[in-house]
Amino acid sequence: MEKRKLLLGTTNKGKIAELAEMLGDMDVEILSLDQLAPVAEVAETGSTFAENARLKAAAYASAFQLPTLADDSGFEVEALDWRPGVFSARYGGDAAPTFPEKIELLLSEMKASGGGSRAARFKCAVAFASADGKIVAETEGTVTGNVVESPRGNNGFGYDPIFVPDGLVHTFAELSSAEKASLSHRGRALLQIIPYLRTFLGNLT
Ligand code: IMP
Repeated sequence: MEKRKLLLGTTNKGKIAELAEMLGDMDVEILSLDQLAPVAEVAETGSTFAENARLKAAAYASAFQLPTLADDSGFEVEALDWRPGVFSARYGGDAAPTFPEKIELLLSEMKASGGGSRAARFKCAVAFASADGKIVAETEGTVTGNVVESPRGNNGFGYDPIFVPDGLVHTFAELSSAEKASLSHRGRALLQIIPYLRTFLGNLT
């Protein structure tokens, strides 16, 4: 029997790798947008992670008529008044197109803020839409920690090299993918939505 399909509504390779690993023991065929016909990227016009996750899940599910899981996530730094938040992927704009450049900019902005706090958190909202684009479930996860003075580690993606979660000494980029998943914002959001995925996908004929 053909496996049921689950679309991951993202082209971000870091996210795809993490989501696919976390969903690895589900009996579904996991697809991502880069395996399907080109589609217009959904504009992240929401003002919250949850809103953007819903927009992406609903739009990609409708476009491909597939059950779709989408996340919206970001990095929030206390010394920057909890920016860049929903703008994390676009932080620094054309002036800082790569993550090493975004990280350098963020560290220099923190220094300039003179605020002293190095507290930060990652947040992730996950939404799951049925093939007709209706949102079936949504969850959120957060991980709190601190920003280190300079980047460390080669694993993960995005801002991982400068974030140490509370209780650990290593940055996310120094952890294995399984260690990161066990406490990350995305891991926490996924853990809560997996029962809904199992129920919904299990009931599809
Ligand atoms: P979006 O969800 O597509 O808007 O992008 C989220 C952005 O937040 C990513 O491009 C990264 O910049 C950042 N981000 C989200 N989750 C993580 C993570 O687990 N590690 C590092 N950076 C992350």
